[in-house]
Amino acid sequence: MLSWLFPSTCELCGETAEETICPACLASLPRIPAPICLHCGAPTAGQQTDPDRCEECADQARPFTLARQALRQTPEAMQLIYALKYHHALHLARPLARLLHELWERTPHLRAHTDWVLVPVPVTLKKLYSRGFNQAGELARHLAEFRQLRVLELLERRDTGVLSQTRLTARARRLNAMRAYHRKRAHWLARRRSYPARIVLVDDVFTTGSTARACAIQLRKLPGVKEVVALSLVRIGA
Ligand SMILES: [Zn+2]
Ligand SMILES: [Zn+2]
Repeated sequence: MLSWLFPSTCELCGETAEETICPACLASLPRIPAPICLHCGAPTAGQQTDPDRCEECADQARPFTLARQALRQTPEAMQLIYALKYHHALHLARPLARLLHELWERTPHLRAHTDWVLVPVPVTLKKLYSRGFNQAGELARHLAEFRQLRVLELLERRDTGVLSQTRLTARARRLNAMRAYHRKRAHWLARRRSYPARIVLVDDVFTTGSTARACAIQLRKLPGVKEVVALSLVRIGA
């Protein structure tokens, strides 16, 4: 009834559609091309001797089991992320979460288990109040509905005084991320006896992996947590 009264239009092509990205536009967004690094999901075509591992992953600690991203960094993908984050286009979260749902179907390790719990990468309280929502939380909420899973907000992001990870060097990003992400104090104090064994960390973008690494390190300190998989919508630089 509501959709009949207020039909939505696709954010990309402007056609009337059931959701705000039509199925044709969703299908046309470029996915990460194979072959990929089996650890971090980076495209490895034409790279080196081992197409299963990118050079970055060869000499980095691996607190997460694997990371996968749905989309390449195209102008259309970035337009959607910007609209969601900065123009309050909350309605985009649901069609975008469909891409994570599809990525899940293409990831054998995720399909091999049924006991996953989703944890969104947090934003600072300041951002939460000014924006009104956490975009990763919205993606996780819809993905959880599609896959019939639970969402647990186990992490918090502290204000480190750095405005954005985007302009930092790789080393500075790692240090900043380690200072920024922590286990939620409320949960810690509640002394939960056990936490989910398998966690999927949900985020909108994946750049160097420093956020995913910092979050995975924190989550794996919780009793009972065995592994963390990082799932993001867009891979920056791919
Ligand atoms: Zn469209
Ligand atoms: Zn890699």
